[in-house]
Amino acid sequence: MQKDPKNLNTTLELSKEDMRAYGYKVIDHIVAHFDTQNDKKPVTQASRAEMDDLLTEDIPLFPSQPDDVLDFVMRDIIPNSNIVSHPKSYSFVPGPSNYVSVMADTIATGFNIFSGGWAASPAAAELEIVTMNWLLEIFGFPTKQGGGIFTSGGSMANLTALVTARRIKCKEDFSKAVIYLSDQAHSSNIKAIKVIGFKKEQIRIIPTDLEFKISLNKLKNAIAKDRLEGLQPFCIIASAGTTNTGTVDPLDAIATICEEESLWMHVDGAYGGAAILSASGKQTLKGIERADSLTVDPHKWFFQPYEMGCLLVKNHNWLSGTFSEKPEYLRDIEGNESEINFYDHGIQLTRRFRALKFYMSLKTFGLEAFKTAITYNIDLANSVEKILRKSAFWEVVSPATLGIINFRYHPLGHNLTEKELDHINQNISRQVVDSGEALLVTTVLLGQVVLRMCLINPRTQLKDITDTLALCEKFGEKEIEKLSNNV
Ligand SMILES: *Cc1c(COP(=O)(O)O)cnc(C)c1O
Repeated sequence: MQKDPKNLNTTLELSKEDMRAYGYKVIDHIVAHFDTQNDKKPVTQASRAEMDDLLTEDIPLFPSQPDDVLDFVMRDIIPNSNIVSHPKSYSFVPGPSNYVSVMADTIATGFNIFSGGWAASPAAAELEIVTMNWLLEIFGFPTKQGGGIFTSGGSMANLTALVTARRIKCKEDFSKAVIYLSDQAHSSNIKAIKVIGFKKEQIRIIPTDLEFKISLNKLKNAIAKDRLEGLQPFCIIASAGTTNTGTVDPLDAIATICEEESLWMHVDGAYGGAAILSASGKQTLKGIERADSLTVDPHKWFFQPYEMGCLLVKNHNWLSGTFSEKPEYLRDIEGNESEINFYDHGIQLTRRFRALKFYMSLKTFGLEAFKTAITYNIDLANSVEKILRKSAFWEVVSPATLGIINFRYHPLGHNLTEKELDHINQNISRQVVDSGEALLVTTVLLGQVVLRMCLINPRTQLKDITDTLALCEKFGEKEIEKLSNNV
């Protein structure tokens, strides 16, 4: 640190040469990462104490050499994260980013584009309209009347949707309003429902059937009963790709219920929606075009880096009617109706230029490449299912659906209890993760501990998966030995 107050860089600027050198260094690091990430281990684990040791420091009052700071970051901070775009990163919903979008984000940040209002950046607003129209078209929503907004992610898109649904259906008084979703719906929906002030008594968690789809019969019963009690059913949240199993709720049937009962239909397709770009996914997602609002997460299966979620709605006036406020300090930039101020379509005023990365990557690679990638992923999960079914070690717990498959180690010829199977599969996952070779964690389905793969990375190959299964089998065998030594 240079402790000379006279040396302070009070305009926070670097010289042109220093900026260049610094930038090239950063780019070299990122390119090296893209080039070598497949050869690294996807998993990092560290405790709070270890991270405290590494990173806790006092507020830096005086300057350091830019290169020293960068070197420290690249050596000690960046490697202490999982590589979510690694071919063997199977858990949660992976983040198979792409380099063009990374550069687009760099441009958006480099020029610090304000994507809140038309007046500040007409082209950014227009590009959000253009790319939103592409998405509306992809999902069969009307492009003239429809609209949407890019958000930080699916959680914010779901929140934005529910605020809108509540205003349209309940107006000011939502004290009797009731909302319906399945026990497999993503937790961000419950979070959003709570954030906007609904009580527990206003939420109906509808059980799912053996295929993890919302039970239509139980849904209809719940709505009917609530009406009899004088409550106001107002919204159903359907899942288009549950995070656990990839299951799609019966969208057409739910849309019909919503029409008959005059309910808002929100579809959470955060991860699964992108499957509409494949022929089989389009079949599975039939009815999605009947939703009033739809969440999709470009930072999942549309291959964008974080953060990018998206909410689509059937009528863009629903958003502006919900989120427009007219403070005096924004008076001068209101502009005319067709010039959209996206701060009027959602919660944020200051917004980064998210549309740019979606635009640049789609233009660079073409929608056909995205279609092929997504179709590849769905086929890959189907191939894994076939392999597992033929194996004497594995049991498929929930079949390949939109790139997700759940299975467990259950070797033939051993009489294992459910408790032992849970224990074995938990330990297989733990040892795989501890080895760092693959990110493969468990979930619980119908009370069973199972291994879950979400295969939305187009750079994952069948060999990556068979290698991982072989590793699991090795650990599984050891677990069986331990069990038989204990008796
Ligand atoms: C990931 C996910 C979300 C949450 O999205 P974030 O981008 O993580 O905020 C919501 N719903 C589903 C179905 C998801 O898979």
